Amino acid sequence: MSETSKLRPPSADTLDALARIVGETHAVRDAADMAPYLTEWRDRYQGKAALVLKPGSTDEVSAILKCANETLTAIVPQGGNTGLVGGQIPFESGDEVVVSLERLTHVRDIDLASNTMTVEAGLVLQVAQQVAESAGRLFPLSLASEGSYRSAGCSPPMPAAWPCSPMATRAIWRWGSKWCWRTGACCTG
Ligand SMILES: Cc1cc2nc3c(=O)[nH]c(=O)nc-3n(C[C@H](O)[C@H](O)[C@H](O)COP(=O)(O)OP(=O)(O)OC[C@H]3O[C@@H](n4cnc5c(N)ncnc54)[C@H](O)[C@@H]3O)c2cc1C
Repeated sequence: MSETSKLRPPSADTLDALARIVGETHAVRDAADMAPYLTEWRDRYQGKAALVLKPGSTDEVSAILKCANETLTAIVPQGGNTGLVGGQIPFESGDEVVVSLERLTHVRDIDLASNTMTVEAGLVLQVAQQVAESAGRLFPLSLASEGSYRSAGCSPPMPAAWPCSPMATRAIWRWGSKWCWRTGACCTG
């Protein structure tokens, strides 16, 4: 049996438990409010979800994943929803839960000595570029979706993104809401 075939549609109790983790304000159940999370910008992929969750901390992400593991609920992480291959859109069954990173946008640390920036997984790339610039550094990754795409969403297509980035860009630990970007020789300061 594959891991995917072990997944179960979430019960009403499971959905309530997941919603309690983030609070009802950040748990989207209404079809109209869910719609933006269920289709991608070219309208090529449309899905359905049992729930959309918007955690506000690493602890909430951990609690969501713990509950999902225990109940065998499928989770679909979503950053800026700019991916071109539909991985951020749930399947049409409506049994999956979308976890949006849109509230995880803090810059946790800028270390000028090591030229690293530690940011939460939902920080938009353009903001990361601006923060680096204000610290006298150049964040070298740049692509057309940079005004929307969030830091963790960058990792799956990273090999394709590398040609856009002449300098080494390194990402560590995605689900922990922490990214560490090393801008290396690209520093301007
Ligand atoms: C105009 C345009 C130009 C683009 N140009 C390029 C380009 O030059 N090079 C390139 O490589 N790509 C390019 N892309 C596509 C690129 O994949 C996305 O812009 C970006 O990388 C996805 O980030 P996102 O936050 O929108 O992630 P989403 O689209 O939300 O998610 C992308 C994937 O990552 C997963 N994911 C998101 N967050 C997490 C997480 N925290 N943990 C685990 N998985 C996660 C999702 O489930 C999904 O499978 C472009 C897209 C657009 C619209």
